[in-house]
Formats: sequence, structure tokens, C-alpha cells
Amino acid sequence: MTQIEEAKSGRTTREMVDVALHEKTELDIVRKHIASGEIVIMTCPKCKPLGIGKGLLTKVNVNIGTSSMAIDPDAEVKKAMVAVEHGANTISDLSMGGDIDEIRRAISDAVSVPLTTVPIYQTTAEKGSFHEIDQEDLIKTIKKQVQEGVSSVVIHAGFTLDTLTSLKKATRIMGMVSKGGAFTAAWMIAHKKENPFLEKYDEILEILLRKDIVLSLGNAMRSGCVHDMSDKPQLSEIQKNAELARHANDVGVQTIVEGMGGHVPAKNIVAYVRHHKKITGNRPLFVSGPLPTDIAVGYDHIAACIGASLASGAGADYLCAITPSEHLALPSIDHVREGTIACRIAAHIGDSMKYGLSDQDFNLAKMRRQRNWEGQFKFALDGERARQIHSPGDTCTMCGDFCALKIMEQYRGH
Ligand code: SF4
Repeated sequence: MTQIEEAKSGRTTREMVDVALHEKTELDIVRKHIASGEIVIMTCPKCKPLGIGKGLLTKVNVNIGTSSMAIDPDAEVKKAMVAVEHGANTISDLSMGGDIDEIRRAISDAVSVPLTTVPIYQTTAEKGSFHEIDQEDLIKTIKKQVQEGVSSVVIHAGFTLDTLTSLKKATRIMGMVSKGGAFTAAWMIAHKKENPFLEKYDEILEILLRKDIVLSLGNAMRSGCVHDMSDKPQLSEIQKNAELARHANDVGVQTIVEGMGGHVPAKNIVAYVRHHKKITGNRPLFVSGPLPTDIAVGYDHIAACIGASLASGAGADYLCAITPSEHLALPSIDHVREGTIACRIAAHIGDSMKYGLSDQDFNLAKMRRQRNWEGQFKFALDGERARQIHSPGDTCTMCGDFCALKIMEQYRGH
């Protein structure tokens, strides 16, 4: 039985208990929200069960993986390790170059967090051309990845040939920017057939059901620049994904709905998140970014941190890290570290909006007031980096003898 089936039957699993304990929340509430599809639990043999959704802390995913132009499996393994070390809750292996099965196994051996894949990536990379792929190839890849222990898979099932027709008419600058979505759309156009994931949806659910794999419904119609506002294709995909999520939950498959990713003007982020959550029945929302500006090239992790903070505070449950390499190159190990930390900051700010300020902030402020540097490093998100930057001494080199904190301590006595 899957977590959602158990929850619907009123039974408590060990995983539900673990999530409730870890999140310091009530078990009954966790079970109720799993039953309603508002929380999913990702599991894998060597990782702690991970709850994502209503009332839980915001989670962070980090994408890694080879491309057809950059194949260094060891570097991808290191990226996964660095991401987890800096707070990634899940890793998505999006590899498209080299021995993809072997790379996924190496990543899975190196980290103890749930692993997600986008099966059409591997199918496309191995077949080399959309013309060569048939629906059975996609099913075979899903079966293989599930069999080998992934915790979650992403499919872009929320659009049809009609959606592609309306996309053609839409006045977008960027068109479709989702890679998985573009592969799926290219397949549909090349084969003159409906969305293969939609046509095979029940078969895919059956595969996921057997091992309680979390389904993530991809966001193919997301906007690729801030001038591409929410439009008909995007709204139709949200509606379709909401329907698909309901059906998946009805048959016992835990489901996340991706959305709101890409580029969204800052003033729209909160309203868009609320709309998305309402349409999808408050199912766990995964967002990539969103980037509230297009001009932060080379610093997109900072722009994404701002967008993701707003999105998370408004109700997004699961954030995808954006690195400084976004739109430019396959990220380096350092860029993965920076992107992960930026996303962790966003998740923390979002949680402070959702659940109130944290003890960690309170404790750090007390340490800062006392100029207790080790204490600050202890409560900082990345204490090691703070230690590297700090200039040793009672005060720091910013104000030196004219340290405001020290002056007020002398004059006010505290
Ligand atoms: S020297 Fe300035 S920046 Fe440094 S701790 Fe004192 S007040 Fe803060």
C-alpha cells in the first residue's frame, strides 16, 4: 500500500511518524494531509522519509547531471554531495550524456536523499532523435528508473495538441522553455500524436503505484521571461495537471504539481502561487525560481532567491535551486554550492513568512550583539563561509575602533 492509500484508510505508517517527529508537527495532521493529497512522502531505502507539503518546512531540490557537451560523472557526483552538504533535501539527476544508468547509480550511492529523474531525458539521449522514440521506450525508461530506486519521476502530461495550437497563437517572446516539455512537444509534433504521457497515464500510474514513487507533474508551459505573462496555455496546463493529480491520488499515487516556474514579475508571484494552490486543491507545489527579472544573468541564483522567497512565503512547498550558471552553462561544483545556499535562504525566508521567525535567527542576533563570532558561525546557514570572510578580532574591519555595537555597549552598559 502507498502512503496515500494507508492514510486514506486511517492507518499510520512508520514514514508518517518519522515526518511528524522531524517536522515537530502532529501525526494526525500529517496523515490527514497525506490522505487529501496535500502532503507527499518521498522514500528511498537509505534515506529518511521526506515530507513535502502543507504545514511542513519548505524543501529544496538541486538539479545536477551531465549534458551531451559536458560529461564528467565524477563532477556530477561531487555536485550532488556538495548540494546535500549545503542543505539540499532532494537531488534531480537530469543527465543526458555518458552512461546515464551508471551516473545515476553513482549519485545514488554517494548521497542519502531522494533522487528524482525526468525519464524523457534519458530516453531522448539514448535514442538520439525524437523520431526514433515510441511510447514503449518512454515506459521502459520509467520502469527501469523506478526499478533502480528513484523516489520521484517528472512527466509533462498536462498539455495536448490543442495546447500546442494555442501556444502557437500566444504572443510570447520565449515560447516554450521547459526542456522536458519541449522534448514532449517535439515528439507530439514529429509523430502527429497526442501527449504520450497523457495517453499512457494509467499505465504510468500503475508502475509508480507498485513502489510508491511520487509523481511530479511537470510545468511545460511556464513563462521564459518576465514579459511573457500567464496566458491560455499556462492556465490550461495548470487545470489539466490539477485533474491529473486528482486522478493519480484517487488510484493511490502521491503527486506533486509543478508550476510557477520560470520568470514571473515580482508583483504577480504571490497571486500566482495562491491561484495555483487553489486550482490544484492545495497539492504540493514545486517551483523553479521563479526569476522576477531577466537581467541578472550570472547572478540568477540571487534573483531566484528573491522570487522563491516570495513564492515560498505565499505557499510553495518545494523549491528548485537556480545557480549562477543558469541560462549560460552546465553549473560548476562551486555554482551548485552557491545555488543551493541561495535556495536554502529562500526556503528559510519563506518559512519565516509561513510559520513565524525562527529560533535560529533569534540566537544568531544574540551572538551578533555580543560580538560572539563563533556563536554567529554556529547559527549561520553557512558558518564556514562566514568564518572565511570574517576578520579576526573583537570587532571587525568594517568599523574597527568605531564599532557601533561596542560603543553602545560602553555607553548603555549592554
Ligand atoms: S565593526 Fe561594525 S560591522 Fe563589525 S561588528 Fe562592529 S558594528 Fe558590526
